[in-house]
Amino acid sequence: MQADFDSVVRKLVEDSQLPREEIMNLIDGKKKELSGLVSDLGAAHIIANELGIQTLPSLKAAGKIEDLKPGSPVDLVARVLRVYEKREFDKSGRKGQVANLLILDETGTTRLVLWGVLANFVETAQVGDILKISNAYVKADREGRPEIHASNRTRLLLNPEGEGRTLPEVGAKGVGALPSFGKEREIGALSENETAPVIIRANVMKFFDTRSPFYETCKECGRSINTCAEHDHSETKRALILNILIDDGSGTIRATLFKQAAESLLGMKTEDAEKLSDLAGNPMVIYAATTKLIGQERVFSGRARYNSVFERMELVVNSVSEVNLAREIEKLTKELEQEK
Ligand SMILES: [Zn+2]
Repeated sequence: MQADFDSVVRKLVEDSQLPREEIMNLIDGKKKELSGLVSDLGAAHIIANELGIQTLPSLKAAGKIEDLKPGSPVDLVARVLRVYEKREFDKSGRKGQVANLLILDETGTTRLVLWGVLANFVETAQVGDILKISNAYVKADREGRPEIHASNRTRLLLNPEGEGRTLPEVGAKGVGALPSFGKEREIGALSENETAPVIIRANVMKFFDTRSPFYETCKECGRSINTCAEHDHSETKRALILNILIDDGSGTIRATLFKQAAESLLGMKTEDAEKLSDLAGNPMVIYAATTKLIGQERVFSGRARYNSVFERMELVVNSVSEVNLAREIEKLTKELEQEK
């Protein structure tokens, strides 16, 4: 046991480049913090984890967000979903700075916490960037969910060549437009004078497929050419529009999805939809891609309105996300905003 402890301490001193005395103080501090519930060796391992130093050869580096476990090292490629402003703190005389990023891969989202000089990274990183993180470590947040912390050994590489191509794209698949506003509501409980944005988790029941899924927009302002009277429309831009029926068990509502929201639901960019439509010589071909979406559950955020002509509630959707991802993003966003 003592030999193990000594070797962990030696590794800590070597890798952290901190004096042995300081390492011993950290270990003692950790033991006190945990009211003596851990052994010297246990405390040393915890300190090692906190410093991002690997002491247990059995710990495999997490390569995907879903594999993150507190204590495990991290080596992964993810996409930047949100960049938060750097904050400076002055806690009982200890000054420093910290910044958070929200990152995403095919398996989920997580927070990346950058301390000290690394926090400056948020001045370069942008939403949509691909980020390669190596030699970082995982800690549990206050609710026990894993998040990635960067230490002075961590390497952050922005947009590494040829990596991260398969990562979900921000925007195109509904992951960019965050449902960070609005309250989750049930369709059956929507009232006629609804004003605030809403979030509805529901199943796609039907696509109203009798009209073209494209409409012409003004190149200047992006509005429908029927609405824009200010600009020249000799050249227009095609945009997507989908009308669907969704059901959350409490009721059904018609929903209209324009542009990005339609792209998200279809999982197809407007350019690709145009190509497909041109190739088939018929815009209605797009609906062939919608059969797989029937019955699927999504999170829709947008505004509910009463249509007095048809005397029914309708939903104009701003963004669509897949259920798990949306939930996670929402939770993390709320939490990050509370910390501000
Ligand atoms: Zn216009």
